[in-house]
Amino acid sequence: MNSGGKTKTDIETDGAAPIDESDRLRALRRLAVLDTPREQLFDDLVALAAHLIGTPMAALSLIDEERQWFKSTVGFDLTETPRAVAFCDHVVRSGASVVVSDALEDPRFLSNPLVTDGDGLRFYVGVPVFSADMPVGALCAMAPDPRSLDTLHLERLNLVARQIEQLLELRWRRTIAAPPQQLTMEHAGRTIRDRESFIRAVGNQFRPAWVYDLETLRFLEVNDAAVEQYGWPREQWLEMTILDIRPSQDATVLDVAIRNRHFVNPAGNRMWQHVRADGAVFDVHIASTQITFAGRAARFVVASDVTARSHSEDMLVHATLHDQLTGLPNRRYFLQTLSRLLACRGAEAVLLTIGLDRFKLVNDSAGHDIGDALLAAVAARLSTLMASAEVVARLGADEFAVVLSGADAADSTRVAQRILDAITEPVHVEGGEFYLTASAGIAVINTSSTAGSVVAEADVALSAAKHRGGNGMVVFDDHMRQEIDEWTAVQHDLRRALDQREFELEYQPVIDLNSGAVSFEALIRWNHPTRGRLLPDAFIPVAEESGLIRRIGRWVLATSAQAAAELDADVSINVSVHQFNDALVADFERAVADTRLRPGQLIIEVTESALIDIGLAQFIVNRLRSHGARIWIDDFGTGYSSLHRLSELTVDALKLDRSFVSNTDTAQGIAIATSVINLGRGLGVQVVAEGIETAEQLALLTALGCHAAQGYFLGRPMSLAGAHAFGKPPRRRLAAVSVVERHVGEARG
Ligand code: C2E
Ligand code: MG
Ligand code: MG
Repeated sequence: MNSGGKTKTDIETDGAAPIDESDRLRALRRLAVLDTPREQLFDDLVALAAHLIGTPMAALSLIDEERQWFKSTVGFDLTETPRAVAFCDHVVRSGASVVVSDALEDPRFLSNPLVTDGDGLRFYVGVPVFSADMPVGALCAMAPDPRSLDTLHLERLNLVARQIEQLLELRWRRTIAAPPQQLTMEHAGRTIRDRESFIRAVGNQFRPAWVYDLETLRFLEVNDAAVEQYGWPREQWLEMTILDIRPSQDATVLDVAIRNRHFVNPAGNRMWQHVRADGAVFDVHIASTQITFAGRAARFVVASDVTARSHSEDMLVHATLHDQLTGLPNRRYFLQTLSRLLACRGAEAVLLTIGLDRFKLVNDSAGHDIGDALLAAVAARLSTLMASAEVVARLGADEFAVVLSGADAADSTRVAQRILDAITEPVHVEGGEFYLTASAGIAVINTSSTAGSVVAEADVALSAAKHRGGNGMVVFDDHMRQEIDEWTAVQHDLRRALDQREFELEYQPVIDLNSGAVSFEALIRWNHPTRGRLLPDAFIPVAEESGLIRRIGRWVLATSAQAAAELDADVSINVSVHQFNDALVADFERAVADTRLRPGQLIIEVTESALIDIGLAQFIVNRLRSHGARIWIDDFGTGYSSLHRLSELTVDALKLDRSFVSNTDTAQGIAIATSVINLGRGLGVQVVAEGIETAEQLALLTALGCHAAQGYFLGRPMSLAGAHAFGKPPRRRLAAVSVVERHVGEARG
């Protein structure tokens, strides 16, 4: 047998460079794979190895200090053995393949209990699995009968081992990039007091961690991972402050955030950029908590490299048709399977889509690790319950799909109910108990269905179920079909609306209750050729879904920047959560530069839903502000915001949602409005009241301390010419201001 390279048969040669065992163990532990649960992708590759070699057994074995631990096995059920009996240890020690044709003929193995006990091993082939150039384990195939092996098969086994190495690497990147678990942080926060407890807690952590002094911002302690991944020697770290690992343009923001404790979230999880010693900038996810360290007020921080995560996730998406987290088929795989099914079967099948209710909130408040664990638990329940279903897949973040063949709508509602019931059973994660509910959308597959059309139908039904409050199901029907048709028509028309200049902006005055100054909110309208003038609610959601929102948004930005320049007034524009990204920053920068606006003249209104991902929101807000934008939170009080969340962000004003204003005719309504206004004032930002329709409302909201007001009572949305007339000529301006002043006077007097 001549396989060349590192391959040797039956014997180990001593010629290879000696392997430093402590380096090897470090390489292994770095992978953070020991004692983790089984994963489908590894199982698949090990099964492939068994198949290629034609043996009944195969395994991926990792050689720890005193034991061999199996990440995956085929044909036998062991999680570990002592290292002393491990055939794979011979592979690891030599860093080369080992083939044992008959263990009973081999002096090294003939008295090994794995050979002598029961149906013992006779044939063994193992190839090394490397990480960081160190043999950390072996991929092996085994049989209870003696065999020989040819070079071709050995090469194939080596190919699979290379796949496993890649997978281990990707998995590692994913692990280090995952934010540290909340509970771990809390625990660390309670136990770390001094150098010794720091080393005990995070000395061996694969994530960089450090403690810095809250007063001087100087590092007090760093772990090995930080030294390794950032590139400064430890002594130098201890000379540096937290500002030294941040890109210079962020230093001021950070300095303010750190010194102004009010804006620091006590156990915050957020995204930052950091710099390495070589000047490279990378994205990190930071978890931190306040501690007392050697008697000083300090902060304990753990960082995860997010760049690694996005990279590896991209690769994984390409590499596999299975969802990493749950092991279920992913959307792509699902659609392929569904198309095949439709092609060969025709009618008599049903698609169920299942979405977890308000999962984003759970994920957000409990942390992504727990979120992931919950999703995995739901996936496991679904697969067990639906073992006989045609396909069970994960379609998106918190959405699953099940195809039942030979079922009709009635059968499937019963099945859906069973699924919903199973999901409501409490899930136990990390010692906590979590309660989830789900909604289901049901679409019956008929002869004219395509994979795309049934999925769309089930999705529409699912959102209807969610709209009804969740924990229920909806079967897709003809009425919903009409809605889809309408939606499609709007989408079609939207594509030409921009080119045909069918959009128009109106400007609604916003009046400063102290100075009387007038600014305007730009509101989009669509002059549709056949359907007449459409308000944003009729088409913005369609534009968001189809991705056209970016082009429309860019037009709104440019047009309102122009208007702000012409009116010589501040103008606010609305952006939806889909627009709140890097592209917006670029568009904003261009619009402001083209029109030479003053800093602060253009205001971005964004709803609370854009703040769910606080790290991203913070990042975009900072960048927009650095280009001179002011940021207002629109429709405040209707979305999911907590004081805690808002206190992390630097915004300029909150717009109190219209619903609070319109309810101020009851005592309870006034109480609610008061508390929302106080909340805003407590955060130190301005409060703008929306939807003022009467003099009484204006007086009341002024008395409650709102800074500015907007509404039909003060001025309806109007054309640019109208805005000119409203804002500019002194007479009109005075008229508007005097209305305010009169009411303000009444309210204060
Ligand atoms: P919004 O930003 O909260 O805008 C205020 C809405 O309340 C506007 O409705 C305005 O006409 C209406 N309004 C103002 N004062 C009163 C009042 O006293 N009483 C009542 N009943 N309504 C009042 P509109 O123009 O239909 O806009 C609806 C929403 O569409 C806006 O809510 C905003 O979220 C969105 N929108 C508007 N223009 C754009 C845009 O250019 N891009 C994006 N992404 N969304 C936009
Ligand atoms: Mg608005
Ligand atoms: Mg609003």
